[in-house]
Amino acid sequence: MKSTIRSTFRWITGNARRIRQDERGSSLLILGLAMTAMLVMAAFALDLGLAYLEAGRLQNAMDASALAAATQLPARANDPIRTQAIVQAAVMYAAKNGFRITADDVTLLTDGTDYVLGVSVEADSTIQTHLAGLVGLDAIRVDRPAEARIGVASSVGGAVPLSIERDYLNACILQGMTSHLTLKFGSSDGTEGFFGLVDLDREVGGGASDIETWLAHGYPGKVLSGDLIYPVEPGVNSGPCFKAFWSRFAECTHFPSEGGCNEQHYVLGCPRIVKVPIIVQTASKSVKIVGFAGFVLEGCMGQGVNNYIVGSFTHIMEPDGLANGQDPLSCLDYGIYTAYLSR
Ligand SMILES: [Zn+2]
Repeated sequence: MKSTIRSTFRWITGNARRIRQDERGSSLLILGLAMTAMLVMAAFALDLGLAYLEAGRLQNAMDASALAAATQLPARANDPIRTQAIVQAAVMYAAKNGFRITADDVTLLTDGTDYVLGVSVEADSTIQTHLAGLVGLDAIRVDRPAEARIGVASSVGGAVPLSIERDYLNACILQGMTSHLTLKFGSSDGTEGFFGLVDLDREVGGGASDIETWLAHGYPGKVLSGDLIYPVEPGVNSGPCFKAFWSRFAECTHFPSEGGCNEQHYVLGCPRIVKVPIIVQTASKSVKIVGFAGFVLEGCMGQGVNNYIVGSFTHIMEPDGLANGQDPLSCLDYGIYTAYLSR
């Protein structure tokens, strides 16, 4: 009986040891598998995190590249000098942000018109992995596109209190006669009325002093196009217009040997380049601003009641304008654009 118990005890203790050994083996195996899994997860977390950061850097660079190129728009699609400048701007701004792209990575978008209205850029970057290499993933490639377009600027800063009527401007554009247009009229019979000056703060009063300041330096706030009604500034205001115009005109420091900026050659940002409200008259003393046009100022002529201001229509960019981006044809018509990321 004793021997039976002893042999049973030996069997139990022997097997218990084996069971413990088996458990210990299983534990080691599970621990090993768990550690491997954790290592793999850590490897992916680290390397995917790095890839994520790289993708963010690449996206920022592509956005900057597309936006910089879009500030050169619009351009005629068949103008090799302008289109090359657009591509170069994209390449240069990608490089400034740490990524090398080539002209092949830049696509000019015409939307079926004769003009370049948008730019898309795309580049990829490959990062070498660290721990993920242990499971055979030696590199991760990220690819990021960006697209920028121009749209009509529906608000501008620094507008001048001059104006041009929409139908008149449309007719001039249609006939290709956009040089030397009148932005403020004289009054041959000396009557009071609307001669092209708009009260941009929409508060009647301020008169000549406001007009002088805004014409010399631009309106200090944003001027919006849309349904707002703007009162006109009645009268010819020849004195303040004359003084403000010529002080502004004299601030141009470009092309000194050729008399400064003009329709043929100008530098964006020059005081001679102005943003002029395009208006529709709603009553004898009020107007609605329906858009903005870029003009190169050319002259303020005529004395007293016959004082008038002329300029030539041009295309300019409004960096802070609100884009509606819906109407490429009207944006070609009116000349003040804003660049925005469209993808
Ligand atoms: Zn200038």
